[in-house]
Amino acid sequence: MTASLDHGAHMRAAMAEAERARGKTGDNPWVGCVIVDARGRVVARGQTQGPGEDHAEIGALHEAAEHGALDATVTLYSTLEPCSFHGRTPACSRVIIDRGVRRVVTGMRDPNPRVDGEGARILRDAGVEVLEGVCEAEVRRQLGSWVLAYHPHEPLRRARAMASTMQRAELAAALASLYAIHAAAAARIVSALDATSP
Ligand SMILES: [Zn+2]
Repeated sequence: MTASLDHGAHMRAAMAEAERARGKTGDNPWVGCVIVDARGRVVARGQTQGPGEDHAEIGALHEAAEHGALDATVTLYSTLEPCSFHGRTPACSRVIIDRGVRRVVTGMRDPNPRVDGEGARILRDAGVEVLEGVCEAEVRRQLGSWVLAYHPHEPLRRARAMASTMQRAELAAALASLYAIHAAAAARIVSALDATSP
């Protein structure tokens, strides 16, 4: 990994791109991406678009290629793990490999059970360096309402793990903070936990 790059600063730049997409992505997560050259300059940006349209990584790869700035020395930062399967669009992890990117930094694993680490694995299997979990807590808060809406098993699983050491009210407050969701939504997760506990 290029030691001189400021991963936190570049991930926050990717988060700023993601914020521009919030509310415009349909059921897609609002993800942001920046591509940075070896000297730490941002050469391209992308945001996830609506259903069936480009994910953030693809937009950024196109822009970098248009500028003649896409080569093996760049680092791609994405707030969410690149997807691993060809759904409405080709798998971003495959496209990243095909475009010759050799380093990827991600914020949060994709909680979609069809991805959940598979995107990172595909990249690593192709020899791409992958650094996961940069600004993860901030990215989880940025994407919290999407996670809750489309992948509620993830906060439920986390709540179950935390429940043994926390009172219910404390647990709801912790979930509200972790996912930046309303207290009532967090309380519903705790209720679901009680309903599904053995
Ligand atoms: Zn994707």
